[in-house]
Amino acid sequence: MSGIVVIFDFDKTIIDIDSDNWVVDELGATDLFNQLLPTMPWNSVMDKMMNELHLQGRSIEDIENVLKRTPIHPRVVPTIKAAYALGCDLRVLSDANLFYIETILKHLGIRECFSEINTNPGFVDDKRKLRILPYHDFHVFSHGCTLCPPNMCKGKIVERIQAELAKEGKKRIIYLGDGAGDFCPSLKLGGNDCMMPRKDFPVWDLICKNRKLLKAEVHEWTDGEDLERVLLQLIGKMMLMEDENTNQMFDCKFETIAHEVLPKPLYVP
Ligand SMILES: [Mg+2]
Ligand SMILES: [Zn+2]
Repeated sequence: MSGIVVIFDFDKTIIDIDSDNWVVDELGATDLFNQLLPTMPWNSVMDKMMNELHLQGRSIEDIENVLKRTPIHPRVVPTIKAAYALGCDLRVLSDANLFYIETILKHLGIRECFSEINTNPGFVDDKRKLRILPYHDFHVFSHGCTLCPPNMCKGKIVERIQAELAKEGKKRIIYLGDGAGDFCPSLKLGGNDCMMPRKDFPVWDLICKNRKLLKAEVHEWTDGEDLERVLLQLIGKMMLMEDENTNQMFDCKFETIAHEVLPKPLYVP
């Protein structure tokens, strides 16, 4: 295990499109979705849409089949496998839902590369209907962050991860994302961490306008090929620095030992 934790957003980061839009569009429910969107939070619209699709006779298998056809850049899966093989701790942090994400990651054969999926609950109920619920139940309490949608503050989740990492002695985070919801967590990253915003996407615009608010190094990327290049380079650099730190400790010890063993220098008066 290296001391590097890589946190991936899901929509338009791991996969090339937005999974909610993909399912709604592919199952022909775009008009209703657009009608509902101004009336309630996105996450609540999705739960309502799943109910609607169920009433229209769409099955869980229909949704799964759409998810398995999700467009993804051909370099993303090999990159995730490579980062995992290098010993990085990979996690998902997404405002999609657990059902979509697990279905897609299992289909791609990379579910086991991730130690954690932080997202909105998504499950099949006893009527074989997909339910999508908020990560933070905003009917009960507000997460209090004005940057984020009511159902999920990714910044709060990153802070929880950071508190755990501090206990485990893991040191550095690389965060990849594209959306406005990825801006709040980017503000929580420290000076040793790296933020990888997708170029010309909302989080990149927000970072460009507020560059001074970020402590982390910023490395932009454009597509799956670029993601592979930038991410593996950063991991390589961080691992080299870890090695150097270990070697430095070894050097110090060696010096102490050498000092004791070697003959004392001869002082000529
Ligand atoms: Mg996204
Ligand atoms: Zn937030």
